[in-house]
Amino acid sequence: MNVVETRDLTKLYGDVHALDGVTLTVPEGSVFGFLGPNGAGKTTMLRVLLGLARPTSGGATIFGHDVQSERDAVHARVGFLPDVPGFYPWMTGEEFLRFAGSLFGIPEPTLTERAHALLEMAGLAGNPNPVGGYSRGMKQRLGIAQALINAPDLLVLDEPTSALDPLGRADVLTMIGSLRGRTTVLFSSHLLGDVERICDQVAVLDRGRLVVQGSVAELRRAHGGSTTVRIAVTEGIERVVAAVEGSSWCVRHAPVADDGQATDVVVSDLAAARRAVPGIVAGLGVGLRRFDELEASLEEVFVGLVGVNR
Ligand code: ATP
Repeated sequence: MNVVETRDLTKLYGDVHALDGVTLTVPEGSVFGFLGPNGAGKTTMLRVLLGLARPTSGGATIFGHDVQSERDAVHARVGFLPDVPGFYPWMTGEEFLRFAGSLFGIPEPTLTERAHALLEMAGLAGNPNPVGGYSRGMKQRLGIAQALINAPDLLVLDEPTSALDPLGRADVLTMIGSLRGRTTVLFSSHLLGDVERICDQVAVLDRGRLVVQGSVAELRRAHGGSTTVRIAVTEGIERVVAAVEGSSWCVRHAPVADDGQATDVVVSDLAAARRAVPGIVAGLGVGLRRFDELEASLEEVFVGLVGVNR
C-alpha cells in the first residue's frame, strides 16, 4: 500500500515552477528520502502534502485522504517537524512533550507513558535542564519526539539533519532509522550521505521536476551509468593499466591509494570488462589477486542525474 500518492502536482510562484508535474508514491513502512539541491522544491512539496500550501494543479492523497479537502483526517495521522522548529526554551524536554501532547488532547496515563518512551528513544530521558541549554542535535531529537507524540502513521521531517555537526547527525539518523517498520518516514534532505545511510526509497527532485524515484539499490543500478572495477595483481600493474587503457570499455582509471599493485577502472561495459580482464592479466604472465565491482555511491548517481546542466 502507498501512504502518499501525488498526481501531476504543480505549484507556481509567479512564473517559478516550485513543483512541475510531480507524480510519486511513498510505500507504507519505508524510510523515504526526498532529495534535491537547494531550491529544488522539497519544502514546497512537504507544505503541499501537509495542506499548508495549495497546489496550482494536480493533487495528492495521504492514507487515501485528499490533502486539501480532508486536511483534518490527514493531520490526525501525520507528525511533522519543520526545518526550523520552535521550542519554549524555559521548558524541560518532558514539559515540552507534555505540552505538545496536551494540544492533541492525549489523556493520562497515555501522555506520561508516551512522553517517557519518546524521551528514552531520543536519548533525553532524565535530563532536568531546560531546552534553551540543549545542543542543536538534542533539540532536533526532541523535535522528532514531539512530532511522534500523537503516534502518527507517517512522520514528515524537513531537512532534519542539515544544521547539525557529524555527531549530531549520526544520532538523529539513528533515531530516524529506529522507526523503520513502525512508522513510515518521509524526509527531505540535500545531504546524500544521510539519505544513503538510512533510506530504502528515494525520490530526486530538481528544479521542481521529479528526476527519478526508486530504491537506493535500484537507483545505483539503473542510473549509476558507468561502474567502477578494482583490479589488483601480483606484479606489473603498469603493464596491466597500459593494456586496459587500450580497451574500448575503459573510460578512465586511477591508482588505488593503499595498494601499489591495484587500479580502479571506470568501465562503460561491465560485461566486456569481466570477459577481458582475466585474459589481459594472464597474457601478461601476472597473477590476478582481485577483480571487484565497486558500487556507485548515491553521490555519483545524483551528480549524474542533476549535475550535468549546472
Ligand atoms: P531549500 O533546500 O533551499 O529549502 P527546497 O528544495 O526546499 O530548497 P523550495 O523552498 O520548495 O525548495 O523552493 C522551490 C522554488 O520555489 C525556489 O525557486 C523558491 O525560491 C521558490 N519559492 C518557494 N516558496 C516560495 C514563496 N512562498 N514565494 C515565492 N517563491 C517561492
